[in-house]
Amino acid sequence: MTRPPATVFDRSVALERLGGEEFDVLIVGGGITGAGVALEASAGGLRTALVERSDFAAGTSSKSSKLVHGGLRYLQQRELRLVHESLLERQRLLTNAPHLVQPLTFLIPLFGKGGVVDKTLVRAFSAALWGYDLAGGWRIGKRHRKIKAAEIQAHLPTLRSERVVAGFLYYDASTDDARLTLSVLRTAVLEHGAAAANYAAVTGFRRGADGRITGAALADGTEIRAGVVVNATGIWADELRALDPTDGAPYLRPAKGTHLVVSRSKLPCDTAAVIPVPGDRRSIFVVPWGDHTYLGTTDTDYEGPLDDPPVTRADVDYILGAVNTWVSPQLRAADVTATWAGLRPLLASTPGRPHQLSERTADLSRRHRVVVSADGLVTITGGKLTTYRKMAEDTLAVVTASLGERPRPSPTRRLPLRGAVGAAAFRGRRAAAELGVEPAVLDHLRRRYGGETAAVIGLTAGDPGLVAPLVPGLPYLRAEAVYAVRYEMAFTLEDVLARRTRALFLEAEATAGAARDVAALMGPHLGWDADRMAGEVAHVEGLARASLAAARSSPGAATDDDLAGDVVAARTSAGEAAAEEMRP
Ligand SMILES: Cc1cc2nc3c(=O)[nH]c(=O)nc-3n(C[C@H](O)[C@H](O)[C@H](O)COP(=O)(O)OP(=O)(O)OC[C@H]3O[C@@H](n4cnc5c(N)ncnc54)[C@H](O)[C@@H]3O)c2cc1C
Repeated sequence: MTRPPATVFDRSVALERLGGEEFDVLIVGGGITGAGVALEASAGGLRTALVERSDFAAGTSSKSSKLVHGGLRYLQQRELRLVHESLLERQRLLTNAPHLVQPLTFLIPLFGKGGVVDKTLVRAFSAALWGYDLAGGWRIGKRHRKIKAAEIQAHLPTLRSERVVAGFLYYDASTDDARLTLSVLRTAVLEHGAAAANYAAVTGFRRGADGRITGAALADGTEIRAGVVVNATGIWADELRALDPTDGAPYLRPAKGTHLVVSRSKLPCDTAAVIPVPGDRRSIFVVPWGDHTYLGTTDTDYEGPLDDPPVTRADVDYILGAVNTWVSPQLRAADVTATWAGLRPLLASTPGRPHQLSERTADLSRRHRVVVSADGLVTITGGKLTTYRKMAEDTLAVVTASLGERPRPSPTRRLPLRGAVGAAAFRGRRAAAELGVEPAVLDHLRRRYGGETAAVIGLTAGDPGLVAPLVPGLPYLRAEAVYAVRYEMAFTLEDVLARRTRALFLEAEATAGAARDVAALMGPHLGWDADRMAGEVAHVEGLARASLAAARSSPGAATDDDLAGDVVAARTSAGEAAAEEMRP
């Protein structure tokens, strides 16, 4: 195995390599799971390829709660191993990608009446938090502590003071899920020679004379030769497995999770919080994200189309209803600035019997599973964003065995992700003054690009207009769109506005308003003509409408089914259809 030299992160270079070279491993799916496997394989010296049908992280990996955590809830479900493993991975990520993964303080307010809170509840939380610390939470350098009502109120001032009695603080971490995925993949390509392309869908498998899978075919007819193929298609895993008749019955059970975003001024907080949902055995998170706060998530069985699950009025009412029980002034649906819904690729507890409805999706395990079909297709599914590296390590153990090689130690436990090296140089007022940018701008860039921050700022040297905001009211710079096209394989307007930046996830209307301007900025770099530009803009406008459709409908005016229909209609507007046609 002679590994090719590191290459550029460029789609046409990757496509040429995919058709021309022979690989040890081909990974199908460019979410966090596929990206993790690509890094694990390439850093371990395997000739590695990855193809993604849409954009990198366009599936669940841009639509999570963005927490890098053990999951207090999983401890209560007695998933000790999962929590321990997740907290170990959390610490590795804090070390290996400090620019992208940051510690986050969580508040658990305890509510009562007349200043009295149920003692059993306090004891239960105290025990759970001790367990969390002991399971590995301590690694973050702080342990949980009990706090008084006044301190809680200082962190989350709109909590109803007459209901808050006491609470706890504990510590976890958060990230930008889409950028983490991109960073893992760029590390695999730029530092370990992997070949990765987006907008490259696998439509069939290549087979050897003995029937074993020896690669895959793309929608455009390109054949990719590989010793082993890994199915890392998340919620679509059963669809890809269906292309291999030797693979067994479906075993995924999709669960939908929705988030709502409001301006931070509507729900001010300087920590995240865990808020109980009245009448349900669940909690929802309130998480600060720059000048916004997001709330979520729901956790419901889902049976609709897997692409773009809709946010319904029921989702909006569930989340706002839960938060409004505890805050004053209350949030209104009109305060919602954006929404997103993702599907969890949960494992049905009995393979082949995906719909045991007596089990709530919230109670299904977040563990992962690696299986190999009789024809050699390796499928990795389940799991969490937090545990992607461990999932990759377990997958590679199976891949190396399939290749007839000896098991080797994982190369990624201490491997810095792209941007980690040199990130510290872009901290503080002095660095900002030297680079000629505001300290807040430098901070924003460092948390996204780390050590590559200078390359983004460098783009503005020849064009000072690139320092201006990409979308009014959001911190992204116009330079970031150009950087995304040149260095991050952004290929569509949606790639830039939804995943390279997260504008569409924060302010849907403002992003739609800026779409034309951003398309004009990107167009010349991508050779777009006027029609293509119009199609791209219409597509993003459709996404923005869909993002807000449920929140903008009046309560009771429409059923969930009507709304799901509206959302689909918004997504398949004429402009979107045109844009769709122009996609590769
Ligand atoms: C609402 C919600 C909240 C969550 N919150 C958290 C959290 O806070 N912390 C945490 O650790 N985890 C969280 N998770 C879990 C985590 O987000 C997922 O486990 C993870 O993102 C799944 O990644 P994946 O790569 O397996 O799937 P995906 O990200 O969906 O990637 C699969 C990819 O495969 C591609 N694909 C499909 N078919 C093909 C094909 N034929 N050819 C090529 N490509 C194909 C798809 O386009 C897609 O991009 C959450 C999940 C949800 C839904």
